[in-house]
Amino acid sequence: MTDLSAEFSRSLRAAGVVGAGGAGFPSYVKAQGRAEFALVNAAECEPLLKKDQKILEYFPEKVFDGLELLMRAVGASKGVLGIKKKHEEIIPRLKEIAKSRKNISILEMGDYYPAGDEQCLVYEATGRIVPPGGIPLEVGCVVANVETLYNASFAPRPVTETFVTVNGGVKKPATFRVPVGVTWRECVENFCGGFTVKDPAYIDGGPMMGKVQTDFDLPLVKASGGIIVLPKDHPLIVKKAQSRQTFTRIGRSACDQCSYCTEFCPRYLLGHNVQPHRVMRTMLFAGGPEHKLHSQYGLLCCECSLCSLYSCPEGLHPREACVSAKADLREQKVGFKNSPLNTGKKPEVHPVRDFRKVPVSKLVRRLGLEDYNKPAPWNAASCAPASVKILMSQHIGVPCVPAVKEGQRVEKGAVVGDVPADKLGCPVHASISGTVRKVNERYVEIIA
Ligand code: SF4
Ligand code: SF4
Repeated sequence: MTDLSAEFSRSLRAAGVVGAGGAGFPSYVKAQGRAEFALVNAAECEPLLKKDQKILEYFPEKVFDGLELLMRAVGASKGVLGIKKKHEEIIPRLKEIAKSRKNISILEMGDYYPAGDEQCLVYEATGRIVPPGGIPLEVGCVVANVETLYNASFAPRPVTETFVTVNGGVKKPATFRVPVGVTWRECVENFCGGFTVKDPAYIDGGPMMGKVQTDFDLPLVKASGGIIVLPKDHPLIVKKAQSRQTFTRIGRSACDQCSYCTEFCPRYLLGHNVQPHRVMRTMLFAGGPEHKLHSQYGLLCCECSLCSLYSCPEGLHPREACVSAKADLREQKVGFKNSPLNTGKKPEVHPVRDFRKVPVSKLVRRLGLEDYNKPAPWNAASCAPASVKILMSQHIGVPCVPAVKEGQRVEKGAVVGDVPADKLGCPVHASISGTVRKVNERYVEIIA
């Protein structure tokens, strides 16, 4: 690690910068690698979410600042910002800024799903394929999300706010910035004028990869990107909420092994050996070697949900079958590295990949979201919550341990939870000034 990289990495850790694209991977780790390309993932392919577009519209210079810092830290000679060409209202400005910086270009991408899959972006930007089970660094790339770079540009200033979109069944869908630890209910009431649907539920993180929730009093974390509010009985909510028992029972009788799920799988089309139709076969076996072998065809699944929510003509759950298979294999200590499918063969892109890209407009129709797909413009109002709950588990790695006591006064930006220096993770900070009302292993609550 160079001095520059060590310094930037320390700064990112102190600021608590984590991947804001949803994964929450501590960003300081990425800054420690060496790469030829630093890529900005601005594809934002989850339908209905707009926060990356809005950050690039209102704060583009900060994203470029973050990118330059990352490029310097990892020694990258090229920076590429990948954005969908449909965002024609902001691309000219981005090109202008890129021109004024050194070695940064704009990659205009089609409006398909999942253009924002990290490995798809690496291929589109560089023509390189991340090895199966590997990471972009192995092909000389480091990838960061728009908001991550925005936050990185301020490091070591702590991350105390998050940008989110609230779209769907609310009066005024909007994109805005709020202190970490406010609730989704406060977001809906303060920024979006309340609900328009009776008995609302929501998908946290976008309709494809997000998780169904019904509790609007859950607090936002640093990696929160937005929610889609829908009625509880919307088919997408119902489908995503089905139990393993139910989807296994239906899959066992209804899967005709047509293999559409595999044929449209973006990772399969990149040349990785992911074959969800084979994983579906495991539903016919009660354990044994056949079950174990077929389960392994799900090991390289990135959980994009295209198979379950678009490709399968029977409306089955191949993605969930892959997720369950991976969890079972983890318990048996089987990962891709020690799987017989890890042949070491170099992946080759499927010759029809370009023709199987799924347009987002078609996907929105298939998801039944046409009536909920609103512009969600930027709302610059500020938010002064009466209290916030700072979760101790906001990133990949070990959760934080509270670093404050009940009754203690804290200022905005103070560390309220941290992880030991030798563990993967980074601190969490007070997002408002106030008094610590409650501390437990799950959260620190602060009242203003
Ligand atoms: S697309 Fe559906 S029916 Fe066809 S193999 Fe996959 S899960 Fe089975
Ligand atoms: S969720 Fe389905 S389509 Fe997506 S990577 Fe996994 S198997 Fe492929």
